[in-house]
Amino acid sequence: MLDSLPRNAVICADRVFVPLRKSGHVSNSRSPVFHAVTPHCRMSLCADEPGPGSGWAEPSGEYVTCAACLRRLDRLRRQE
Ligand SMILES: [Zn+2]
Repeated sequence: MLDSLPRNAVICADRVFVPLRKSGHVSNSRSPVFHAVTPHCRMSLCADEPGPGSGWAEPSGEYVTCAACLRRLDRLRRQE
């Protein structure tokens, strides 16, 4: 089962997250924010989600960069 996970998947407290950014235009001034998103879920760990008619962009990122998601991942790890 683990074989089907992306290389960059984050496994935390028996939950799986993938670094994903919202699709759509990305302003050049800042790098895209990668949220921790459970595969096939619409909402990220920080309760953010793509706008209506939009989705998470492929490919996934190497790391989660959203500060709110990182805080929650950290909290999940502490509970292990
Ligand atoms: Zn986030």
